[in-house]
Amino acid sequence: MISEKMHEQVKNSSVIRAMFEEGKRLAGIYGAENVFDFSLGNPNVEPPEEVKKAILEIVNDKNVIGIHGYMNNSGYEEVRAAIAKSINDKFGTTITHNSILMTVGAAGGLNVILKTLLNPKDEVITFAPFFGEYRNYVKNFDGELIAVSPNTIDFQPNLKEFKDKITPKTKAVIINSPNNPTGVIYSEETIIKLSEILREKQKEFGTDIYLIADEPYRELAYDQAEVPYLSKYYANTIVGYSYSKSLSLPGERIGYLMISDQAADFENIISAANIANRILGFVNAPALFQRVIVKCLDAKVDLEAYNRNRELLYKELLSYGYQCIKPEGAFYMFVKSPIENDAEFCSLANKKNILIVPGSAFGCPGYVRIAYCVAYETIVKALPGFKALIEELK
Ligand code: PLP
Repeated sequence: MISEKMHEQVKNSSVIRAMFEEGKRLAGIYGAENVFDFSLGNPNVEPPEEVKKAILEIVNDKNVIGIHGYMNNSGYEEVRAAIAKSINDKFGTTITHNSILMTVGAAGGLNVILKTLLNPKDEVITFAPFFGEYRNYVKNFDGELIAVSPNTIDFQPNLKEFKDKITPKTKAVIINSPNNPTGVIYSEETIIKLSEILREKQKEFGTDIYLIADEPYRELAYDQAEVPYLSKYYANTIVGYSYSKSLSLPGERIGYLMISDQAADFENIISAANIANRILGFVNAPALFQRVIVKCLDAKVDLEAYNRNRELLYKELLSYGYQCIKPEGAFYMFVKSPIENDAEFCSLANKKNILIVPGSAFGCPGYVRIAYCVAYETIVKALPGFKALIEELK
């Protein structure tokens, strides 16, 4: 028998699994090229050339030995130092390699920091709509995920409700901007207010509340939009970064945690996170890709490819009568379901060979997420289906 905890997690994964199965079934009948899969955040844009060049340089360098070996659980010191310098140059911080822990993507980083911080029953607040995996990551360490209900006007966090939901058991707050699934960037005004609330509540309860910024989409911001760097606004900040989307390397599993040197209990967090990385079984982030990303710190994926998709999809969906706000970052569009039941709308979309995800999976029923990290032609071919769908429901 599998554990009770896993039993529940398997049950809760059924929406995504069902979607995957449905995609395979449709591809079997109609051919993969006639199935429009907007269900996954798997980048279709290839990594920048610098990545390939870096891989070849490293593996062909006869002077480097042991490139595939173990290293300190936090990662190579020279890689961490280069990342710290790059953060300092961009955001005016003064961190050292000590603040950086190389991780197995953002997912690995979030699990490491939650293991580091949480006691059973500790509360972690997040804002709906949110990346559904947070539920599992918090449950892994017997914490309670508390979701603040969505502000569907502009999808900035609902700060009034947030304030009311902070308790003496609140250990951490996870925010994700640019956001999956809305594409919204939390404004500087939002971050300032959120930080003030946190400081006020820390004082009231005599606790430390850590703000975890989950930032796999930081580099995917359109129209030169600014994404505020959290440690400038709030001392107890931890940033979870990933190269999965910024360099299109999701399968290589590489990212880092930046633990602000201003954070309370900094030294203990650093050493505990180092051990958490080891005992969770990650041991260390992939050796080769630590060396690769450090050669690509200024490389960028072709954002214009996503932007083209964004512009086309947004313009067309609006013209058919769909309602949604224009994403400012990431590669997701969060569209109001034309019928109340978002899961039912996704089933109707399946009948047009369109795969999209119900907003309920992100704690926000009544909406659907379209991941537009697909070929431009896929969008062009899917548009008549989107149009027919809403017309049939009118
Ligand atoms: N956080 C968010 C908001 C995501 O959308 C994803 C992946 O889609 C992750 C974390 C996990 O990213 P990684 O591949 O770096 O583990």
